[in-house]
Amino acid sequence: MNTPTKTAFQITPKADRASPAERASLLANPGFGRVFSEHMAVVTYTEGKGWHTPQILPRQPLTLDPAASVLHYAQEIFEGMKAYRAPNGEALLFRPDANARRFRHSAERMAMAQVPEELFLDAVTQLVALDKDWIPAADVGTLYIRPFMIATEAALGVKPAAEFKFLVIACAAGEYFSQDAGPVSVWVEERTVRASRGGTGEAKCGGNYAGSLTAQMEAKANGCHQVLFLDAIERKWIEEMGGMNIVMVFDDGTILTPPLEGTILRGITRDSLLTLARDKGLTVREEPYAIDQLYADAKSGRLKEAFACGTAAVVTPIGTLKSAEGTCVINNGKTGEITTALRKALCDIQYGRAEDTHGWVKQVS
Ligand SMILES: *Cc1c(COP(=O)(O)O)cnc(C)c1O
Repeated sequence: MNTPTKTAFQITPKADRASPAERASLLANPGFGRVFSEHMAVVTYTEGKGWHTPQILPRQPLTLDPAASVLHYAQEIFEGMKAYRAPNGEALLFRPDANARRFRHSAERMAMAQVPEELFLDAVTQLVALDKDWIPAADVGTLYIRPFMIATEAALGVKPAAEFKFLVIACAAGEYFSQDAGPVSVWVEERTVRASRGGTGEAKCGGNYAGSLTAQMEAKANGCHQVLFLDAIERKWIEEMGGMNIVMVFDDGTILTPPLEGTILRGITRDSLLTLARDKGLTVREEPYAIDQLYADAKSGRLKEAFACGTAAVVTPIGTLKSAEGTCVINNGKTGEITTALRKALCDIQYGRAEDTHGWVKQVS
Protein backbone atom coordinates (compact mmCIF):
# COMPACT_ATOMS: atom_id res chain seq x y z
CA MET A 1 0.00 0.00 0.00
CA ASN A 2 1.20 3.47 -0.84
CA THR A 3 1.18 5.99 1.95
CA PRO A 4 -1.18 8.72 0.81
CA THR A 5 0.75 11.89 0.13
CA LYS A 6 -0.99 15.08 1.09
CA THR A 7 -1.16 17.64 -1.68
CA ALA A 8 0.28 20.95 -0.46
CA PHE A 9 -2.66 23.26 -1.16
CA GLN A 10 -1.81 26.93 -0.87
CA ILE A 11 -4.52 28.16 1.49
CA THR A 12 -5.73 31.77 1.37
CA PRO A 13 -8.45 32.14 4.02
CA LYS A 14 -11.27 34.61 3.52
CA ALA A 15 -10.52 37.89 5.31
CA ASP A 16 -14.01 38.80 6.55
CA ARG A 17 -15.49 35.49 7.61
CA ALA A 18 -19.08 35.23 8.78
CA SER A 19 -19.64 35.56 12.52
CA PRO A 20 -21.05 32.52 14.34
CA ALA A 21 -24.39 34.37 14.62
CA GLU A 22 -24.52 35.14 10.87
CA ARG A 23 -23.63 31.55 10.07
CA ALA A 24 -26.22 30.19 12.47
CA SER A 25 -28.98 32.27 10.89
CA LEU A 26 -27.96 31.18 7.36
CA LEU A 27 -27.80 27.53 8.41
CA ALA A 28 -31.09 27.47 10.32
CA ASN A 29 -33.14 26.78 7.17
CA PRO A 30 -30.65 26.37 4.34
CA GLY A 31 -32.79 24.79 1.61
CA PHE A 32 -30.60 23.24 -1.07
CA GLY A 33 -27.79 24.88 -3.03
CA ARG A 34 -28.33 28.46 -1.85
CA VAL A 35 -26.08 28.87 1.21
CA PHE A 36 -22.48 28.32 0.15
CA SER A 37 -19.44 27.79 2.35
CA GLU A 38 -16.74 30.45 2.26
CA HIS A 39 -13.97 28.74 0.31
CA MET A 40 -13.30 26.75 -2.83
CA ALA A 41 -10.50 24.47 -3.99
CA VAL A 42 -9.00 25.07 -7.44
CA VAL A 43 -6.35 22.97 -9.22
CA THR A 44 -5.18 23.63 -12.78
CA TYR A 45 -4.16 21.12 -15.45
CA THR A 46 -1.99 22.02 -18.38
CA GLU A 47 -1.02 19.46 -21.00
CA GLY A 48 2.65 18.61 -20.68
CA LYS A 49 2.78 19.95 -17.12
CA GLY A 50 0.03 17.94 -15.41
CA TRP A 51 -1.91 19.12 -12.35
CA HIS A 52 -0.39 22.16 -10.68
CA THR A 53 -1.09 25.19 -8.46
CA PRO A 54 -3.42 23.54 -5.91
CA GLN A 55 -5.15 26.34 -4.05
CA ILE A 56 -7.90 26.92 -1.55
CA LEU A 57 -9.29 30.42 -1.98
CA PRO A 58 -12.17 32.53 -0.76
CA ARG A 59 -15.17 31.52 -2.91
CA GLN A 60 -15.23 33.88 -5.90
CA PRO A 61 -16.29 34.13 -9.56
CA LEU A 62 -14.15 32.42 -12.19
CA THR A 63 -12.51 34.20 -15.08
CA LEU A 64 -12.90 32.25 -18.32
CA ASP A 65 -12.02 33.02 -21.89
CA PRO A 66 -15.28 33.20 -23.90
CA ALA A 67 -13.85 30.50 -26.18
CA ALA A 68 -13.26 28.08 -23.26
CA SER A 69 -14.29 24.60 -24.49
CA VAL A 70 -16.66 23.99 -21.60
CA LEU A 71 -18.87 26.86 -22.77
CA HIS A 72 -19.25 25.42 -26.28
CA TYR A 73 -18.81 21.66 -26.19
CA ALA A 74 -19.80 20.92 -22.59
CA GLN A 75 -16.59 19.20 -21.53
CA GLU A 76 -17.69 19.16 -17.89
CA ILE A 77 -18.11 16.52 -15.20
CA PHE A 78 -19.10 16.67 -11.55
CA GLU A 79 -19.59 14.72 -8.35
CA GLY A 80 -22.01 15.06 -5.46
CA MET A 81 -21.12 14.02 -1.91
CA LYS A 82 -21.77 15.18 1.63
CA ALA A 83 -20.06 16.00 4.91
CA TYR A 84 -22.10 14.90 7.93
CA ARG A 85 -21.95 16.21 11.50
CA ALA A 86 -21.27 13.28 13.85
CA PRO A 87 -22.68 13.19 17.40
CA ASN A 88 -19.21 14.17 18.74
CA GLY A 89 -19.14 17.20 16.42
CA GLU A 90 -16.61 15.73 13.99
CA ALA A 91 -17.03 15.96 10.22
CA LEU A 92 -17.62 12.67 8.39
CA LEU A 93 -17.44 11.78 4.70
CA PHE A 94 -19.26 8.78 3.23
CA ARG A 95 -17.35 6.60 0.74
CA PRO A 96 -15.38 9.54 -0.71
CA ASP A 97 -13.07 7.07 -2.49
CA ALA A 98 -16.07 5.88 -4.54
CA ASN A 99 -16.70 9.45 -5.71
CA ALA A 100 -13.01 9.87 -6.60
CA ARG A 101 -13.11 6.68 -8.66
CA ARG A 102 -16.35 7.59 -10.44
CA PHE A 103 -14.90 11.04 -11.22
CA ARG A 104 -12.01 9.31 -12.99
CA HIS A 105 -14.40 7.19 -15.04
CA SER A 106 -16.48 10.24 -15.99
CA ALA A 107 -13.29 12.08 -17.03
CA GLU A 108 -12.25 9.14 -19.17
CA ARG A 109 -15.62 9.08 -20.99
CA MET A 110 -15.53 12.83 -21.66
CA ALA A 111 -11.87 12.80 -22.83
CA MET A 112 -10.75 14.96 -19.92
CA ALA A 113 -7.59 14.90 -17.79
CA GLN A 114 -7.65 12.34 -14.97
CA VAL A 115 -7.67 13.76 -11.47
CA PRO A 116 -5.61 11.34 -9.34
CA GLU A 117 -7.81 9.93 -6.58
CA GLU A 118 -5.49 11.26 -3.83
CA LEU A 119 -5.69 14.77 -5.28
CA PHE A 120 -9.49 14.54 -5.43
CA LEU A 121 -9.65 13.35 -1.81
CA ASP A 122 -7.14 15.95 -0.60
CA ALA A 123 -9.09 18.79 -2.24
CA VAL A 124 -12.36 17.61 -0.66
CA THR A 125 -10.97 16.94 2.82
CA GLN A 126 -8.95 20.15 3.02
CA LEU A 127 -11.92 22.26 1.91
CA VAL A 128 -14.22 20.52 4.41
CA ALA A 129 -11.63 20.95 7.17
CA LEU A 130 -11.45 24.71 6.50
CA ASP A 131 -15.24 25.14 6.12
CA LYS A 132 -16.20 22.65 8.84
CA ASP A 133 -18.32 25.26 10.64
CA TRP A 134 -20.62 25.31 7.60
CA ILE A 135 -21.78 21.74 8.20
CA PRO A 136 -25.30 22.13 9.60
CA ALA A 137 -26.35 20.34 12.78
CA ALA A 138 -27.30 16.72 12.10
CA ASP A 139 -31.03 17.38 12.63
CA VAL A 140 -30.96 20.20 10.06
CA GLY A 141 -28.94 18.73 7.22
CA THR A 142 -25.50 18.28 5.72
CA LEU A 143 -22.81 20.11 3.80
CA TYR A 144 -23.23 19.12 0.15
CA ILE A 145 -19.89 19.00 -1.66
CA ARG A 146 -19.65 19.59 -5.39
CA PRO A 147 -16.33 18.65 -7.00
CA PHE A 148 -16.31 19.45 -10.74
CA MET A 149 -13.99 19.83 -13.70
CA ILE A 150 -14.24 22.15 -16.70
CA ALA A 151 -12.28 22.46 -19.94
CA THR A 152 -10.78 25.94 -19.89
CA GLU A 153 -8.69 25.94 -23.05
CA ALA A 154 -9.63 28.78 -25.41
CA ALA A 155 -10.08 26.85 -28.65
CA LEU A 156 -13.15 26.51 -30.86
CA GLY A 157 -11.82 23.47 -32.73
CA VAL A 158 -13.67 20.35 -31.59
CA LYS A 159 -11.04 18.30 -29.74
CA PRO A 160 -10.24 17.31 -26.17
CA ALA A 161 -9.00 20.43 -24.36
CA ALA A 162 -5.40 20.82 -23.23
CA GLU A 163 -6.31 22.84 -20.13
CA PHE A 164 -8.70 22.04 -17.31
CA LYS A 165 -9.66 23.31 -13.90
CA PHE A 166 -10.73 20.98 -11.11
CA LEU A 167 -12.74 22.79 -8.45
CA VAL A 168 -14.59 21.94 -5.25
CA ILE A 169 -17.34 24.09 -3.78
CA ALA A 170 -19.77 23.29 -0.96
CA CYS A 171 -23.23 24.35 0.14
CA ALA A 172 -25.50 23.64 3.06
CA ALA A 173 -28.28 21.18 2.31
CA GLY A 174 -31.45 20.85 4.37
CA GLU A 175 -33.70 17.88 3.77
CA TYR A 176 -33.97 17.79 -0.04
CA PHE A 177 -37.62 16.79 -0.04
CA SER A 178 -39.53 17.68 3.06
CA GLN A 179 -39.99 14.54 5.17
CA ASP A 180 -43.50 15.55 6.14
CA ALA A 181 -44.55 15.86 2.52
CA GLY A 182 -44.52 12.03 2.22
CA PRO A 183 -43.98 10.08 -1.00
CA VAL A 184 -43.41 11.94 -4.25
CA SER A 185 -45.25 11.60 -7.53
CA VAL A 186 -43.27 10.61 -10.58
CA TRP A 187 -43.89 11.36 -14.26
CA VAL A 188 -43.12 8.42 -16.57
CA GLU A 189 -41.39 10.09 -19.50
CA GLU A 190 -42.40 8.53 -22.83
CA ARG A 191 -41.25 11.29 -25.20
CA THR A 192 -37.55 11.92 -24.48
CA VAL A 193 -34.79 9.63 -23.19
CA ARG A 194 -31.92 10.33 -20.82
CA ALA A 195 -29.33 7.91 -22.17
CA SER A 196 -28.72 5.24 -24.75
CA ARG A 197 -26.24 2.35 -24.98
CA GLY A 198 -22.84 3.72 -25.85
CA GLY A 199 -23.88 7.24 -24.87
CA THR A 200 -22.86 9.24 -21.81
CA GLY A 201 -25.50 8.04 -19.36
CA GLU A 202 -22.96 6.45 -17.05
CA ALA A 203 -20.82 9.59 -16.84
CA LYS A 204 -21.74 12.26 -14.33
CA CYS A 205 -21.63 15.09 -16.86
CA GLY A 206 -23.61 18.30 -16.94
CA GLY A 207 -24.90 17.64 -20.44
CA ASN A 208 -26.97 14.68 -19.23
CA TYR A 209 -28.81 17.02 -16.91
CA ALA A 210 -29.38 19.69 -19.57
CA GLY A 211 -30.93 16.99 -21.75
CA SER A 212 -33.29 15.88 -18.97
CA LEU A 213 -34.76 19.29 -18.17
CA THR A 214 -37.60 19.26 -20.72
CA ALA A 215 -38.83 16.00 -19.16
CA GLN A 216 -38.57 17.63 -15.74
CA MET A 217 -40.68 20.54 -17.01
CA GLU A 218 -43.24 18.12 -18.42
CA ALA A 219 -43.34 16.36 -15.04
CA LYS A 220 -44.00 19.63 -13.28
CA ALA A 221 -46.70 20.60 -15.77
CA ASN A 222 -48.37 17.27 -14.94
CA GLY A 223 -48.18 17.92 -11.21
CA CYS A 224 -45.26 15.54 -10.55
CA HIS A 225 -42.08 16.07 -8.52
CA GLN A 226 -39.77 13.79 -10.48
CA VAL A 227 -39.25 12.03 -13.80
CA LEU A 228 -38.69 8.35 -14.54
CA PHE A 229 -36.85 7.61 -17.78
CA LEU A 230 -37.32 4.47 -19.87
CA ASP A 231 -34.78 2.77 -22.13
CA ALA A 232 -34.03 4.46 -25.45
CA ILE A 233 -34.77 1.50 -27.75
CA GLU A 234 -37.99 -0.14 -26.64
CA ARG A 235 -39.28 2.59 -24.31
CA LYS A 236 -40.27 -0.29 -22.10
CA TRP A 237 -37.64 -0.87 -19.45
CA ILE A 238 -37.32 1.29 -16.36
CA GLU A 239 -33.96 3.03 -16.16
CA GLU A 240 -33.66 5.80 -13.60
CA MET A 241 -34.85 9.23 -12.51
CA GLY A 242 -33.27 12.46 -13.70
CA GLY A 243 -30.69 12.36 -10.91
CA MET A 244 -31.55 9.35 -8.76
CA ASN A 245 -31.67 5.59 -9.15
CA ILE A 246 -34.88 3.62 -8.60
CA VAL A 247 -35.53 0.57 -6.41
CA MET A 248 -38.66 -1.58 -6.14
CA VAL A 249 -39.68 -3.72 -3.13
CA PHE A 250 -41.96 -6.75 -3.55
CA ASP A 251 -44.33 -8.55 -1.17
CA ASP A 252 -41.90 -11.49 -0.83
CA GLY A 253 -39.23 -9.15 0.54
CA THR A 254 -37.28 -9.10 -2.73
CA ILE A 255 -35.61 -5.88 -3.82
CA LEU A 256 -35.21 -5.14 -7.52
CA THR A 257 -33.30 -2.43 -9.37
CA PRO A 258 -32.34 -2.16 -13.04
CA PRO A 259 -28.86 -3.52 -13.87
CA LEU A 260 -25.91 -1.26 -14.69
CA GLU A 261 -25.38 -1.79 -18.39
CA GLY A 262 -24.02 1.56 -19.48
CA THR A 263 -27.09 3.80 -19.50
CA ILE A 264 -27.68 4.11 -15.76
CA LEU A 265 -25.52 6.15 -13.45
CA ARG A 266 -23.66 4.00 -10.93
CA GLY A 267 -25.13 5.51 -7.77
CA ILE A 268 -23.14 5.12 -4.57
CA THR A 269 -26.38 5.39 -2.59
CA ARG A 270 -27.85 2.60 -4.76
CA ASP A 271 -24.84 0.38 -4.14
CA SER A 272 -24.83 1.10 -0.39
CA LEU A 273 -28.56 0.40 0.00
CA LEU A 274 -28.28 -2.89 -1.91
CA THR A 275 -25.46 -3.90 0.45
CA LEU A 276 -27.52 -2.95 3.52
CA ALA A 277 -30.53 -4.84 2.11
CA ARG A 278 -28.38 -7.96 1.72
CA ASP A 279 -27.12 -7.42 5.29
CA LYS A 280 -30.76 -7.51 6.41
CA GLY A 281 -31.25 -10.84 4.64
CA LEU A 282 -33.31 -9.45 1.77
CA THR A 283 -32.89 -10.89 -1.71
CA VAL A 284 -31.48 -8.31 -4.11
CA ARG A 285 -32.02 -8.64 -7.85
CA GLU A 286 -30.43 -6.40 -10.45
CA GLU A 287 -32.67 -7.16 -13.38
CA PRO A 288 -34.57 -5.35 -16.13
CA TYR A 289 -38.12 -4.41 -15.12
CA ALA A 290 -40.74 -3.29 -17.61
CA ILE A 291 -42.97 -0.31 -16.87
CA ASP A 292 -46.10 -2.30 -17.79
CA GLN A 293 -45.04 -5.01 -15.34
CA LEU A 294 -44.72 -2.33 -12.67
CA TYR A 295 -48.26 -1.10 -13.36
CA ALA A 296 -49.57 -4.68 -13.15
CA ASP A 297 -47.59 -5.46 -9.97
CA ALA A 298 -48.71 -2.24 -8.28
CA LYS A 299 -52.31 -3.13 -9.10
CA SER A 300 -52.04 -6.72 -7.85
CA GLY A 301 -50.23 -5.60 -4.69
CA ARG A 302 -47.13 -7.67 -5.50
CA LEU A 303 -45.20 -4.41 -5.74
CA LYS A 304 -45.25 -3.12 -2.17
CA GLU A 305 -42.88 -0.15 -2.26
CA ALA A 306 -40.77 1.93 -4.62
CA PHE A 307 -38.20 4.58 -3.88
CA ALA A 308 -35.66 6.80 -5.56
CA CYS A 309 -32.16 7.09 -4.12
CA GLY A 310 -29.19 9.41 -4.45
CA THR A 311 -26.79 11.44 -2.31
CA ALA A 312 -28.84 14.65 -2.23
CA ALA A 313 -32.20 13.22 -1.12
CA VAL A 314 -30.89 9.85 0.22
CA VAL A 315 -34.11 7.81 -0.10
CA THR A 316 -37.32 9.30 -1.48
CA PRO A 317 -40.45 7.13 -1.39
CA ILE A 318 -42.52 7.06 -4.57
CA GLY A 319 -46.28 7.20 -4.00
CA THR A 320 -47.65 7.57 -7.51
CA LEU A 321 -46.54 7.18 -11.11
CA LYS A 322 -48.29 9.20 -13.79
CA SER A 323 -48.10 8.97 -17.54
CA ALA A 324 -50.16 10.09 -20.51
CA GLU A 325 -52.22 6.88 -20.00
CA GLY A 326 -53.11 7.35 -16.37
CA THR A 327 -52.08 7.14 -12.74
CA CYS A 328 -50.71 4.21 -10.76
CA VAL A 329 -50.62 4.25 -6.96
CA ILE A 330 -48.03 2.29 -4.96
CA ASN A 331 -48.67 1.14 -1.38
CA ASN A 332 -51.75 3.39 -1.15
CA GLY A 333 -49.46 6.39 -1.58
CA LYS A 334 -47.76 5.71 1.76
CA THR A 335 -44.09 5.30 2.67
CA GLY A 336 -43.24 1.62 2.97
CA GLU A 337 -41.59 -0.16 5.90
CA ILE A 338 -38.54 -1.40 4.02
CA THR A 339 -38.00 2.03 2.46
CA THR A 340 -38.04 3.58 5.93
CA ALA A 341 -35.78 0.90 7.42
CA LEU A 342 -33.18 1.15 4.64
CA ARG A 343 -33.15 4.93 4.80
CA LYS A 344 -32.61 4.83 8.55
CA ALA A 345 -29.87 2.20 8.34
CA LEU A 346 -27.97 4.26 5.78
CA CYS A 347 -28.40 7.62 7.54
CA ASP A 348 -27.34 6.13 10.89
CA ILE A 349 -24.04 5.06 9.32
CA GLN A 350 -23.55 8.33 7.42
CA TYR A 351 -24.08 10.44 10.55
CA GLY A 352 -21.85 8.21 12.67
CA ARG A 353 -24.74 6.92 14.82
CA ALA A 354 -24.37 3.25 13.90
CA GLU A 355 -21.41 0.92 13.59
CA ASP A 356 -19.75 1.22 10.20
CA THR A 357 -19.11 -2.45 9.44
CA HIS A 358 -18.25 -1.78 5.78
CA GLY A 359 -15.55 0.84 6.40
CA TRP A 360 -17.51 3.49 4.49
CA VAL A 361 -17.10 6.47 6.80
CA LYS A 362 -14.01 8.70 6.86
CA GLN A 363 -13.47 11.29 9.55
CA VAL A 364 -12.05 14.61 8.34
CA SER A 365 -9.17 15.40 10.65
C1 LIG B 1 -25.52 11.34 -9.13
C2 LIG B 1 -26.60 10.61 -9.81
C3 LIG B 1 -27.28 9.54 -9.20
C4 LIG B 1 -27.07 9.13 -7.77
O1 LIG B 1 -25.76 8.79 -7.45
P1 LIG B 1 -25.26 8.81 -5.94
O2 LIG B 1 -23.84 8.41 -6.01
O3 LIG B 1 -26.10 7.88 -5.20
O4 LIG B 1 -25.45 10.22 -5.46
C5 LIG B 1 -28.22 8.84 -9.94
N1 LIG B 1 -28.51 9.21 -11.21
C6 LIG B 1 -27.89 10.24 -11.82
C7 LIG B 1 -28.26 10.58 -13.22
C8 LIG B 1 -26.93 10.97 -11.14
O5 LIG B 1 -26.32 11.99 -11.74
